[in-house]
Amino acid sequence: MFNTEDSPPCPACGSLDQIAVYEKEAAYFSNLDISSKFAANACRQCGFVFQSSAYSGSYDNMLLQCYSNYNKYQLFPFPNRSAQNAKTLEILLERIPNDHCFNILEIGSNRGDMLFMIKERRPAVNVLGIEPAGVDCRVPTIRAAFANGLLSNKFDLIILQHVFEHIKNPRKLIADIRHILSDTGVIYIEVPNLDNTLGYCLDDFILEHVNYFTVETLSCVLDDFSPVELYSEDFIRAVYARAAASQRKSSFAPSIVERFHRYRTNRQEAIEKICRDSAEGKTLVFYGVSYYYKMLMRELAPVLNLQKCMFYDDNYLQAYEQEYGLRRLTEFNGSCVVIICSNNFIVQDEIYNKICGCGLNGIVRPWRAS
Ligand SMILES: [Zn+2]
Repeated sequence: MFNTEDSPPCPACGSLDQIAVYEKEAAYFSNLDISSKFAANACRQCGFVFQSSAYSGSYDNMLLQCYSNYNKYQLFPFPNRSAQNAKTLEILLERIPNDHCFNILEIGSNRGDMLFMIKERRPAVNVLGIEPAGVDCRVPTIRAAFANGLLSNKFDLIILQHVFEHIKNPRKLIADIRHILSDTGVIYIEVPNLDNTLGYCLDDFILEHVNYFTVETLSCVLDDFSPVELYSEDFIRAVYARAAASQRKSSFAPSIVERFHRYRTNRQEAIEKICRDSAEGKTLVFYGVSYYYKMLMRELAPVLNLQKCMFYDDNYLQAYEQEYGLRRLTEFNGSCVVIICSNNFIVQDEIYNKICGCGLNGIVRPWRAS
């Protein structure tokens, strides 16, 4: 196994008793061309898995570059009414009265897509976003990174949608949030689920993700809150309310080492197979050319025969894809190996079911064993 001697204390429980579970020589940020070494550890006390490499030297500077051009949503019309956002919105609306005294804060609000959709349905409430990235904000937004003391008023709902997996020292953020949460206020947290990442072999080990939560380890980090709603489908979606400090603990399962080993092997084999397909002259078709496609191509473009690669996208209708110059496929045929470019297994399955009757040579749901 790898060396864990220089590792930081476990961000969930503080223990130094850890085991290295995953390493990658060159990992990427989803929107930057720079790569860096990646290492993840599991804590042997509480079972929490985190990116130990994020707590070393150059990481914070790289991250600043990453967030200064964070444009994940720019590809979508505003507001992004994806099926995933619709699920989140319905959970949130259950908790939001149409009341002019109700205050909502979203940390990492990006353009303000979610807050905008909340205002459409609950026009009386007050919404505020916090966003450090240089994006075009469409709701009232403080352009800063969240820090203790930035806000003095109290909020009835604080939203962290795909933010908490990015936060080093997650316990500190929760302690800071506690100060600005009203007595009856709740926190909404949505994060990728490590059990899905490993089970479906998803590409969640990117440099900007520093925490890899399961339902158990998330509740361990929030041990002075109790979950009042908890859904675990494509993502973990949870609503937490204040509680008296509890003794809630999660524990280390030794099987995590084997699960990471299987993940690594599986991913490697799937990538080698598409490299062979490419070398044999099959047509690789990238289904979907938004941000996951771009992330994938940073790793794959150097090792594929790009002349034989094409793309297909229901929304992007140009003849050529901009960044790698792939040509648009007009009709699926028997020489096509389709790579479904989504990192969400539910979306992958929807596309899979749509095209599995097209007589294709193969369909890849990265990086599930087929
Ligand atoms: Zn721990």
